[in-house]
Amino acid sequence: MPELPEVETIRLGLSKYLVGHKILDVDVKLKRIFTGDPKSIIGARVESIDRFGKGLVINLDNGYSIAIHIKLTGQIIYNDLTFIRNRNIHLSKAKVGQLPNKFTHVIFTLDKDAKLYYNDIRQFGWIKIVKKADLKTLPFFKDLGPEPIPSSGQPPLTLEQFENILSKSNLAVKVLIMDQKRIGGVGNIYANDALFLSSIDPRRKAKEITKIEAKKLFGAILTVLKKGLKYGGASELTFVNALGEEGGYQNHFLAYGKKGEKCSVCGATMEKIFLGGRGTFFCPKHQK
Ligand SMILES: [Zn+2]
Repeated sequence: MPELPEVETIRLGLSKYLVGHKILDVDVKLKRIFTGDPKSIIGARVESIDRFGKGLVINLDNGYSIAIHIKLTGQIIYNDLTFIRNRNIHLSKAKVGQLPNKFTHVIFTLDKDAKLYYNDIRQFGWIKIVKKADLKTLPFFKDLGPEPIPSSGQPPLTLEQFENILSKSNLAVKVLIMDQKRIGGVGNIYANDALFLSSIDPRRKAKEITKIEAKKLFGAILTVLKKGLKYGGASELTFVNALGEEGGYQNHFLAYGKKGEKCSVCGATMEKIFLGGRGTFFCPKHQK
């Protein structure tokens, strides 16, 4: 599932290309994923883009916002005449193909011959139109824990808070750091890589992590998230940025997906187990 660096990559792209556009029409092809009245946003102009954890918010100048969660396979792709002319350069053939395509469920028609497409193969994602003042009442936003790298003015997760969250939990440390209600934005890829980087066994009970280890892990989470962002996210499943281009972090995974390969730190053979139902990759030798 796209995590903080992937969703932040989309946010940065939308901030650059979508802000300032007026919404002329909304074509909802799959009603199940869409909540709210499209009429309430027609004629409104896009003012800003926020991100809360893995959730995106498009703020409009009429008091409404469009909240979007892309879940496992959602794509939000901006396209205008310039990009259509340069389609071969920008759009990922492997991850997107044509626009629109059979997985395009919502099309926003914008002014200046631009469009915003919402694609979703698995259809787990959602789009909700809400009054900006009511955003915090959506369960997703209400329940979100503090984030290591917030983007929309929220205070960042501190080391003290992080130690406190760890010290109170009987969960395996990896399962805990992926719990969006405790810490926002960290998912499976970056949890695997952060634990590898801090040499901690993902199966350890969170409350048994020492203060020194907690500090290392906290630093490692920041490091891998920043690296993910630097490479424009990981295009592991269908992730693409706001122009439909693939990210590059999948070429820089530390532990994720490395089953059977040699550990880059100590040379042992990397293993894969399931923790909390999620594929967990680690080095059985140097992660303790
Ligand atoms: Zn190792």
